[in-house]
Amino acid sequence: MADLEHFRMVIGGKAVDAISGKTFESENPYTGQPWAVLPDGGPDDIDAAVAAARAALDGEWGELTGFARAALMRRLGDLIAENAERLARLEVNDSGKLYREMIGQLNGLGGWFHYYAGIADKLEGRQIPSPNPNFLVYTRREPVGVVAAITPWNSPLLLLTWKVAPALAAGCTIVVKPSEHAPSSSLGLAELFEKAGFPPGVVNVVTGNSREVGAHLAGHPGVDKVAFTGSTATGRAVAHAAAENLNKVTLELGGKSPQVVFPDADLEAASNGLVAGVFAATGQTCMAGSRLIVHESVHDELVRLVAERASRIRLGDPNDPGTEMGPVANRPQYEKVLGYLETAKGEGATVAYGGAADTGMGGLFVQPTVLTGVGPESTIVREEVFGPVLSAYTFTTEDEAITLANDTQYGLAGAVWTKDVHRAHRVAAKIRAGSVWINAYRVVAPSVPFGGFKSSGLGRENGIDAVNEYTENKSVWVELSGGTRDPFTLG
Ligand code: NAD
Repeated sequence: MADLEHFRMVIGGKAVDAISGKTFESENPYTGQPWAVLPDGGPDDIDAAVAAARAALDGEWGELTGFARAALMRRLGDLIAENAERLARLEVNDSGKLYREMIGQLNGLGGWFHYYAGIADKLEGRQIPSPNPNFLVYTRREPVGVVAAITPWNSPLLLLTWKVAPALAAGCTIVVKPSEHAPSSSLGLAELFEKAGFPPGVVNVVTGNSREVGAHLAGHPGVDKVAFTGSTATGRAVAHAAAENLNKVTLELGGKSPQVVFPDADLEAASNGLVAGVFAATGQTCMAGSRLIVHESVHDELVRLVAERASRIRLGDPNDPGTEMGPVANRPQYEKVLGYLETAKGEGATVAYGGAADTGMGGLFVQPTVLTGVGPESTIVREEVFGPVLSAYTFTTEDEAITLANDTQYGLAGAVWTKDVHRAHRVAAKIRAGSVWINAYRVVAPSVPFGGFKSSGLGRENGIDAVNEYTENKSVWVELSGGTRDPFTLG
């Protein structure tokens, strides 16, 4: 235990242990060994964090102008870049994310705070025309209040930033509950809020090993809005809990995103996009392009290209800059991915590449896998694997391609690969998903809305409008005549 790194939660600006004194360990999926000890928070700790967030809202933070909030957010953005190295290592250790991906992500992460700082000082109400000339009416954009931010293990800092940056711009305070599988980086980020000069209690982080901690936060009567990223099943539970309090909710959930490849596509570019879509981050991304829907005339050639590239993917130490694919992030997920591979084979899938664990290095490695011989009814095509598994099947006509692409409960993302500009836009318009890339995959930016259709979510993160998810709109009526009104009439 001596050489494990010890973390503390952040509540009301103080570094604290769980009230119960309990702790839990985080396992490094590359070494298979625990590397950190974290407070095992419970409902009491959530209560304390919600109270601290409420006090901050009613205190100094609530008095700050948008300009003052923007200045703090810009400082935070700069601090993230200065601390990129440390924050990147925390996620590498917690969940085997590649250092090379994380350092790039962290160098860009401050950009989200800078972008939303630019909105904090531009939040405007409006003067509203009133049919009664005796009234001046205007609106105020006010913070919704205390926000619960509940995040998954696959990209804790990025997905937390997508919530915290617009929430701070709006003037909210926040209680964060990171995943039990990847808790440390959110605590690392929390330390920077104090350094940037945020008043205590604006951002609080409670870690905990039990799923009840998230449930307690999602249904907490002291919370005004819940922002959640995670699985569709948990998202439903969160929506129910939020509904009990009639709270606003944003849900970013699962996906089973299609990559539709037409015969005129640049197949080299498409195979590169398929690798980016499903093997980057070991396929553990909500937007993974896990269904390859390819025209029958180019199926064999494209599968050959992707399988060949998959065979050259360098698996290994996530800290090594030459590594292209790290381990699966945690043991339950590892077992789940291997279970899906067995199910696929049992249902008659053909393995074009991979298809099994890679046991050579001792960590939780799964081979990048390309499956053919599957169809729209296969389990591997219908369910989110959240691992490095691409399932390929064919179409003959454009209409069939669209039908297959939309034959899913999910609607998070998708791609169209073609050189025909008419077809590209026509098909992009027909795919029922929140993001569609044309001849590209897996690109995000602070300014571009992201979120899901259908069972992939509710509301949007990123972009100017995301700040609306964190504001209430208040109408103020000002009587101008100074006279009295008939108390028994409306208007
Ligand atoms: P999960 O749903 O199991 O857990 C997500 C978070 O919710 C964790 O912090 C967990 O502790 C907490 N939680 C668990 N039960 C809860 C409850 N009843 N009430 C409130 N919170 C609860 O998801 P996961 O396994 O951590 O993450 C993987 C999933 O996340 C995948 O399905 C993936 O597609 C999805 N995801 C979506 C996006 C997106 O933006 N749409 C991004 C990343 C991941």
